[in-house]
Amino acid sequence: MKLSWAKIREELDDLWECFLGLIYPRLCLACEEPLVRGEDIICIGCRIDLPYTDYHLMPADERPLARRFWGKVRLQHTLSYLLFVRQGRVQHLMHQLKYKGLGGVGTMLGVLYGRELRAAGFAEIFDLIVPVPLHPKKMAKRGFNQAALFAAGLSQGLGVAWSEEALVRGFATDTQTKKNRLERWRNVESVFLVGKTSLFAGKKVVVVDDVLTTGATLEACCNILLANGAAEVSIATIACA
Ligand SMILES: [Zn+2]
Repeated sequence: MKLSWAKIREELDDLWECFLGLIYPRLCLACEEPLVRGEDIICIGCRIDLPYTDYHLMPADERPLARRFWGKVRLQHTLSYLLFVRQGRVQHLMHQLKYKGLGGVGTMLGVLYGRELRAAGFAEIFDLIVPVPLHPKKMAKRGFNQAALFAAGLSQGLGVAWSEEALVRGFATDTQTKKNRLERWRNVESVFLVGKTSLFAGKKVVVVDDVLTTGATLEACCNILLANGAAEVSIATIACA
C-alpha cells in the first residue's frame, strides 16, 4: 500500500490530537465529562438531553413565558431555547459563557436554536434580530456581549439579519440586585436608548438575551422598539429561569 504525504500528515495530526487530549482533555461545557473526537463544546449526550423548552412548537399564547409580559409589553413570540435549572447543566453552561470568556458557546447555541426555529417557520416570522446591548464598561471588562454572540449564531442558523445598532446603552446604573421590581424597571428603562430607527421601523423584530429572569431588561428594550416604530416585537433567550 502506498501512502501519500497528505494521508501521513492527516494521520500525524490525528495522533497529535489524541496525545493532546490525554494531557489536556477537552471537557463538555455543560456536564464536564471529557469530549470524544468529533464532539465540540457540548457532548452528544448533553445535546440530546439538555432541558429544551420547545416553546417554539407551542401556540404563541400558550407559551409559559407569554403571561409574564401580559399588561407590560405586547409581544408576538416569547421563546427560550433551554430551561435554567439551578445547579444544573444549563447553569454551568451559562456560567462558562458569561464569566469564563467562552463566548463561542453563545454563538454555537444560537446556530443550533436558529436551525430549529427555521425548521418551525420562524425565518418568515422575523425580519431582524436585535441583541440586548451591554454597557460599554462591562463590554470593556468582559470583551464581548454574550447576547450579541447569541444573536450572530441565531442569525446564521435562522437566515435572518441581526444588528447591534438598533438599540444602544446609555449610562451606567447601580447594580441590579437588591432592588424591587419597580425600581429595577425604572433603573433599566433609563439606560436603553434607541439607535438607528431606520433599521427596525416597520419590521418584525426579535430581541435576544442570554438568560431571562425577571424580564425587566427585555421589557424595556421591547417597549423602546415599539415606541419607535417597530411593527412587532418578540423575544428569544438562550435560557429562562
Ligand atoms: Zn455533556
